[in-house]
Amino acid sequence: MRNIFVLVLLSILFFACTDHRTPLEKSDFQKLTSHQDMMNYIKESSDDSDLMELDTLTLSNKGRVIPFIKVSTSGFGKDSNKIKVMIFAQQHGNEQSGKEALINIVKRIYESKLTYVLGKIDLLLIPQMNPDGSELDERRNGNDADLNRDHLLLSQPETIALHQLFKKYQPQVTLDIHEYRPFSKSWEAFGFQKNWDEQFGTLTNINVDDEILNFQKQKFIPYIQNFLEERDFTFNEYVVGGPPNLERMRYSTIDINDGRQSFGILNSMSFILEGLNGRTSVENIERRTEGQIRAVLGFLEFVYNNKNEIRDVIRKSREDALNLSKVAVRLEHIKGDEQKFLTLLNLKTDTDTTLLIDNFHAKVISNLDVEKPKGYLIPKKIVELKTWLDNHGIFYEVNHSLTEADQYTIENFVDSVDEELENQYPQVSSEKININPNDFYFVPTNQLHTNMLVIALEPQSQIGLIQYDLFKEKLTEENKYTILRIN
Ligand SMILES: [Zn+2]
Repeated sequence: MRNIFVLVLLSILFFACTDHRTPLEKSDFQKLTSHQDMMNYIKESSDDSDLMELDTLTLSNKGRVIPFIKVSTSGFGKDSNKIKVMIFAQQHGNEQSGKEALINIVKRIYESKLTYVLGKIDLLLIPQMNPDGSELDERRNGNDADLNRDHLLLSQPETIALHQLFKKYQPQVTLDIHEYRPFSKSWEAFGFQKNWDEQFGTLTNINVDDEILNFQKQKFIPYIQNFLEERDFTFNEYVVGGPPNLERMRYSTIDINDGRQSFGILNSMSFILEGLNGRTSVENIERRTEGQIRAVLGFLEFVYNNKNEIRDVIRKSREDALNLSKVAVRLEHIKGDEQKFLTLLNLKTDTDTTLLIDNFHAKVISNLDVEKPKGYLIPKKIVELKTWLDNHGIFYEVNHSLTEADQYTIENFVDSVDEELENQYPQVSSEKININPNDFYFVPTNQLHTNMLVIALEPQSQIGLIQYDLFKEKLTEENKYTILRIN
């Protein structure tokens, strides 16, 4: 009798200790994980694991803790033979499955199920970038900003902190996890719907090294497609636009203000993951989360299998970028040669149907290249620019002895829409002027942000700082552009 009692007690203790289900699992997939429940869960998990170290990235606009977890078998970043990977989710608060998936990844690490990939990978996990939006199930953050359009400007604490984390460790690979909504009147009228469980997007800005772009397209995309389909999740390479009878379709934006391309422009192998959202944030959350988990596991397996090659490609790309003499600052998707077939859900027959998309614009070209200068002179009196440099971790010299620079005169602005983005296209001329070195910081282009600096600081850039309200007026004085070039 007593033995049975002891046995029962032991099994209760055993199950209490091993019940490490995630909050979503404990709710039987009925309730999305709150910020507090997530914090408790990842704290318990990391406290109890030698592999995870929990830290605070920053506080959100509304003062909520945004956590990050350093995951390593050998001390994060200490083994230079390993590759560093950064994965972040839920910049958009109403895209819940990415957070749920990364909480599940924390569980798997806790249960030692990912220890083999950690043999080659040091991992930074940020399961929730936007807790303020998440708690309200809204896209934007607590300051009504779209975080995924803020990665060039860096005006929000959430994005600033993410870029400072990146700068500190310089991961070679990054992944930004989202969800897409396929439900719209225009697609309904077209009669078809995007219905893939998972879409991965690669880099599209052609200033990123070709070797990275090719590696993503030729090696990763087929690999992850196969990986997911073998596990009964459908896949597509991330596309935007349409329906194709009304609007062109293309791969994702060439802009560098999102979570994918802002790291890609620093020659990282960066991806975006877009899972299929529900009509409500909780609809199908079990399958949505499972799809995202599989996608992350396939992604990690790919990096594991290609660790040396990726590391070498990134090292070389970051070196080579310093020697590039031209940077494309006006870019456009055009039709090109790629014949694009998409498998869509036929809403009348409820079956998958493969269509040839006539107006798919797959290829990116440059409409304007500019010569990369040795550096830029940034007026000290524009304090917002100094803040911007600091937020990105861009190096600059406070004391220098430069007395001569090139200044742009803006003759006039032409309104322009390129890549579905409104912008003002200035017509410029340039002349040499004498300056007082004490009035300017010198930002050399010989640094990690090399191509990004040119795209951000050139006045003719269709995606540069001048296109943002915060900077537009500060960067022009009369008809002079206030940032100067050192050629
Ligand atoms: Zn999103």
